[in-house]
Amino acid sequence: MSRLVVISNRLPIGDASSGGLVVALHDALEKRGGCWIGAYPEAGSDTGKFEDVEGSHYRKLAFRLTQNEVENYYLGFANSVLWPLCHRRVDRVSMTPSYWPGYKAVNQRLAKMIAAEIRSDDLIWVHDYHFFPLARELRKLGAHNRIGFFLHVPFPVLSDLSILPEPETFAANIAHYDLIGLQTRGDVARCLEMFRADYRSELLSDGSIKFGDRITTVRSFPIGIDVAAFRTEAQCDESNPFGSSGAPEKFAVGVDRLDYTKGLPNRFKAFGRYLELCDSENRPCLIQIAPPTRQEVSAYQEVTDELQGLTGKINGQFAELDWTPIRFINRSVPRPKLARLYRLSHCGLVTSLADGMNLVAKEFVAAQDGEDPGVLVLSRFAGAAEDMTDALLVNPYDIDETARAIHAAFTMPLGERRERHAKCLEVVERTDASHWSESFVNILKSRISMLEPWEMTA
Ligand code: UDP
Repeated sequence: MSRLVVISNRLPIGDASSGGLVVALHDALEKRGGCWIGAYPEAGSDTGKFEDVEGSHYRKLAFRLTQNEVENYYLGFANSVLWPLCHRRVDRVSMTPSYWPGYKAVNQRLAKMIAAEIRSDDLIWVHDYHFFPLARELRKLGAHNRIGFFLHVPFPVLSDLSILPEPETFAANIAHYDLIGLQTRGDVARCLEMFRADYRSELLSDGSIKFGDRITTVRSFPIGIDVAAFRTEAQCDESNPFGSSGAPEKFAVGVDRLDYTKGLPNRFKAFGRYLELCDSENRPCLIQIAPPTRQEVSAYQEVTDELQGLTGKINGQFAELDWTPIRFINRSVPRPKLARLYRLSHCGLVTSLADGMNLVAKEFVAAQDGEDPGVLVLSRFAGAAEDMTDALLVNPYDIDETARAIHAAFTMPLGERRERHAKCLEVVERTDASHWSESFVNILKSRISMLEPWEMTA
């Protein structure tokens, strides 16, 4: 059996990041053998070599980004150009001349280090927008391996790609992957539109793309969570996340990195609008967990300031001596505690303005008690909405519509809650994380391009 080589920007070290994705890739690596390559979280000096990180049955190979690379490749091109581009926020793109060369240089440096490690029959699986050009760099060094790519964020809109330096290299770079995996059918449609609009590419009769002398396949693999593990955590009655103070009588919960793509200001405004409309006798709360992220990028600081202002304004308007409507917690909460929080809550709020999938939506559904479930309010712009059509789908730009959905969630009759939850849960179980990684690897190793992922594992 050929080995699997996984490449991601950050190497998971310790158990802090053991979400569904990490567990799914970990299982795939345990099964096939191979290695996981990624960066240490802290910057350091470039030694030109990987360091072995002990503690797994497969190899973990770490490299260090230099401070200059963190600034130009990671915070710069990846997170100040590609992240907003993929999330349809070109107004947030901020570019300096050193970002693009810095991004290309890290991809070249890493390709050289990887080429020295791989065997000719290894399957290589590259993750995310940090590495669009990596396959091309590996091909230049003579790698003929099957190389797959999975994009965790939305695929960019064709017309927005012109914002990139050397925009014509984008399609040419990703065509060097044998398999391009995307989150949703909508993402696949956008990717195919890009290839169709490019005179250098040709759509073949089996649906794959011929680009120069390369053939690539594009398809969707909606990512999921480790459902069984998450459910077990949610059902663990030992810890009450609210401690001795007890849970608020009625509350909605939101859990998001504090990112401008998550639609948090709109969510807070919608909750404020809901408070205007509802009978505040009920004293509903919004508990928002929002750990800070990428604070070095100014767009992130701006949204933090905006949320602090909105929290003060809404609480100032509605709070009573014994009731604070919005609890804005600007810190990370461990996943087992989140699982309990979801289960106790009456409504889960996911109002992203753009989101690859949004795993919180799936975690919220998996954590519920099927006999008395809470209701998920879900943005139409989250990848999860493509299949979870029985959530209360909202347009997060429409504050009134979102406020009405919050009201509907809090007042929904038990029968309807159970029915909607069962249908959402069916989707969450069908797209479990292990199914996701197995389908991707199966299709990568075969050359079949037309079968659906579930047909491959049948
Ligand atoms: N998460 C967490 N603690 C927090 C906030 C988030 O463990 O305080 C986890 C959450 O449970 C989920 C992940 O971080 O598994 C967020 O994934 P999602 O797809 O929703 O958004 P992303 O951050 O990848 O854009």
